[in-house]
Amino acid sequence: MNAVRTVLALGSNLGESRSTLADAVAALADHPGMKLVAVSPVARTAPVGGPAGQPDYLNLVAEFETTLDAHALLDHCHDIENRHHRTREVRWGPRTLDVDIITYGSSRINDEVLTVPHPRAAERAFVLQPWAWMDPDARLEGVPVADLAARAADLSGVELFEGE
Ligand code: ATP
Ligand code: MG
Ligand code: MG
Repeated sequence: MNAVRTVLALGSNLGESRSTLADAVAALADHPGMKLVAVSPVARTAPVGGPAGQPDYLNLVAEFETTLDAHALLDHCHDIENRHHRTREVRWGPRTLDVDIITYGSSRINDEVLTVPHPRAAERAFVLQPWAWMDPDARLEGVPVADLAARAADLSGVELFEGE
């Protein structure tokens, strides 16, 4: 089976977010159908949506080659979220770990459980900016990711995370 390039976006704003993100990238890659290609620098980002007063996020994106089909990949992402005790009480509420599929090759998918490309990625600087840091030539549906990032309303809340 041919491998497909996929871009995943990870975010965390509860617990030890920096180590959660590092563990999650390693755990995502620790699967026979997954090979890590690149990881972005970590961004510290102001929350977008959700309840007022939630903590800032740490976000990164990572690119993999995968032989999993898109739904098996979503299951794998949920499995890694669950290992970090992800709960869903409030939409866009604080979380230990979120893992979203941003792109899966050039596939377009829209069913009950999965929409790819991720329907809100093109307007989220907390996804686009780390992605552009990782791959300055990246495109989302033909549009340069760096251009989308520059236009995103939340860009001013995104900065490089310099911590360990
Ligand atoms: P957002 O999707 O706006 O980033 P969220 O990540 O907080 O919000 P979740 O609670 O993590 O939302 O996911 C809700 C549901 O979204 C999941 O159960 C999953 O089936 C569905 N979903 C649809 N498309 C995707 C995708 N591309 N990546 C991850 N989950 C997706
Ligand atoms: Mg999300
Ligand atoms: Mg999610």
